[in-house]
Amino acid sequence: MLDGALRAGIWLPYACNHGLCGTCKVDVLQGEVDHHHASSFALMDLEREEGKALACCATLNSDVTIEAQIDEELDALLLPVGDYRGRVIRIDDLTPTIKGIWLALDGDGLAFQAGQYLNLKLPGLAEPRAFSIASRPSARQVIELNVRKVDGGAGTGYLHEQLKVNDELQFTAPLGRFFVRKSAPEPMLFLAGGSGLSSPKAMICELLEEQDMRPITLIHGARCREELYDTAIFTDLAALYPHFRYVPALSDASHDSHWHGERGYVHEVAERLFDGRFAGLQAYLCGPPAMIDACLTSLMRGRLFEQHIHMEHFFTAADAAQPARRSALFKKF
Ligand SMILES: Cc1cc2nc3c(=O)[nH]c(=O)nc-3n(C[C@H](O)[C@H](O)[C@H](O)COP(=O)(O)OP(=O)(O)OC[C@H]3O[C@@H](n4cnc5c(N)ncnc54)[C@H](O)[C@@H]3O)c2cc1C
Repeated sequence: MLDGALRAGIWLPYACNHGLCGTCKVDVLQGEVDHHHASSFALMDLEREEGKALACCATLNSDVTIEAQIDEELDALLLPVGDYRGRVIRIDDLTPTIKGIWLALDGDGLAFQAGQYLNLKLPGLAEPRAFSIASRPSARQVIELNVRKVDGGAGTGYLHEQLKVNDELQFTAPLGRFFVRKSAPEPMLFLAGGSGLSSPKAMICELLEEQDMRPITLIHGARCREELYDTAIFTDLAALYPHFRYVPALSDASHDSHWHGERGYVHEVAERLFDGRFAGLQAYLCGPPAMIDACLTSLMRGRLFEQHIHMEHFFTAADAAQPARRSALFKKF
């Protein structure tokens, strides 16, 4: 149901894509659906009887009419989802655990919004794997991905160990609703963990390219210096654009006496830089769920609330297998 709507250019809210979080719950007004693996927590028996369904796992047994609650988003582009092929033109070791992969697309390339992701089909894997697009939307014929190798991960293992230049990859895109609220006047704070730099990189590069003059701070967290990447790119951008501040931060620099930058987790560094006060900002969070949870706590303690916080969780299958966590104060997943 969700796939059909997105391909038709109709937005429905969704998050986990695994029938676990309930973000994509809709009312089926007419017709029959099959609920497949919708979790009994995200879609309770009573709700099934009332005609509710999770769009991410429901399939249609007849024509159906649905009703969904959709927040109007002024800055969201409604781009239909489609299937694409890309030829690998470059693979770089960005860090010991993160590879940069560049795909060249035919024809007009991919129309997407900075911050969105794609679902990559990989040989031998039944389910696609999600990766955020790290390149700017204006360069639509070449897509950059930043892929962290997950321990025991089949897909990231393939991309790190077997993928070669000139291989062809198929993917579905553009997906997700992580994008810059360009109509909002506030200064922007980007908090990124590890390969969670991908989306912020696309978003910040586009903002700077468009000469957006609002203050932008990027805090990029990594465990150690070897795990930081694109430092030269962001240092150069900060030198060129005085309204852009770049703050690399190491969470485990105890043995690195030559590191003179920030130390600590991303949320700790943000608290220090902003004196624990975040009201009046728009915050964009991208990275592993634990980092996002810690940042959310700091931001909310510092008086920044849901409508000003936007995020992309880099869930893995292991995270998806956990029961859904959702803050009582937070509607968005
Ligand atoms: C919207 C989105 C955007 C993302 N963007 C990026 C990005 O730009 N860069 C990036 O590096 N990552 C990104 N990710 C994360 C990325 O999608 C995952 O790291 C990737 O899917 C892992 O795939 P894999 O095949 O290597 O691992 P999987 O095979 O899926 O396994 C991951 C881990 O889970 C374990 N596991 C597998 N199945 C189960 C199960 N049923 N129960 C418990 N444990 C299990 C595995 O042993 C392994 O440790 C993104 C994720 C999302 C949702």
